[in-house]
Amino acid sequence: MSIGELLRPRTTVDLTKRPRRLRSSAAMRELVREHAVRVGSLVQPLFVVDPGQPQGEISSMPGVFRYTVENVAAECRELAALGIKAVLLFGIPDFKDSVASSAHDPAGVVQRAIRAIKRDVPEMLVIADLCNCEYTDHGHCGILDEAGDVDNDATLELLGRTALSYAEAGVDVIAPSDMMDGRVGYLRATLDGSSFGSIPIMSYAVKFASAFYGPFREAADSTPQFGDRRTYQMDPANAREALREALIDLDEGADFLIVKPALAYMDLIRAVKEISDVPVACYNVSGEYAMVKAAGRNGWIDENRTIDEILTSFVRAGADIIITYFAKSYAQRHRT
Ligand SMILES: [Zn+2]
Repeated sequence: MSIGELLRPRTTVDLTKRPRRLRSSAAMRELVREHAVRVGSLVQPLFVVDPGQPQGEISSMPGVFRYTVENVAAECRELAALGIKAVLLFGIPDFKDSVASSAHDPAGVVQRAIRAIKRDVPEMLVIADLCNCEYTDHGHCGILDEAGDVDNDATLELLGRTALSYAEAGVDVIAPSDMMDGRVGYLRATLDGSSFGSIPIMSYAVKFASAFYGPFREAADSTPQFGDRRTYQMDPANAREALREALIDLDEGADFLIVKPALAYMDLIRAVKEISDVPVACYNVSGEYAMVKAAGRNGWIDENRTIDEILTSFVRAGADIIITYFAKSYAQRHRT
């Protein structure tokens, strides 16, 4: 038997369908590309510190920095020049106590940062993460009751006070990330009752108790001093509960929904997209960032191709907005 006979298909194969025709050249692939990442849909998270806190690069997140109020606006100016439209602020205060007093201080670190950015780069959309864990000495996201559990309803009042102080500083969007029940409705009513009815709420509606947050806790100095966050953040095993959380937040008036983390939860980005009529964001978290950077530095993966593939996959999964530490470097590499 000749080689030709050996290779000839022995069963009937339908070769009228040849998808490879549409992959034949770079131009063809560009023509038929279904999804693309828009720089305008990326949100850059920024860590802003009080003067007594360490600044500079975060060791577990190479390329990500902690800024002072004095230099965060300059960073925003650079981001704006690259086409980035929005930043998400996290504050690291000098003073922490059991009731997160500095979270709603009108002269707090995030409040000052909002004012500095809106003064120097007014076109930049400033989203403020709203949570207490960076401001409590115990590191939990809410006020503790006598048993040491997070007191949901007492925490709402604190969130409302902080949201108002961000609004007064000029924030564009409030993003509650604590996973307390009822906080979207409570914040909506609080803002509406204080002439801030036009400020949207971007809810971390679906937020899991995830191991992928590790490097963030170094960055934000927000590790719980005891226990963990599993009584308020979601169990990674639950998908139907994620949809319930999303529907509750929609019902309470959320203007955006966030799924966090992103990479291990793409099924839920898609599922939340399908049941909602508001923009869906995903948060490509610190551990997802750190894994790519570590493997890239070791030469184990092609870092830039990996980043592009990950961000594109979020769009394919249905994300309208991507919160990612890669935003700036992606924009730098894809300058038009
Ligand atoms: Zn928190």
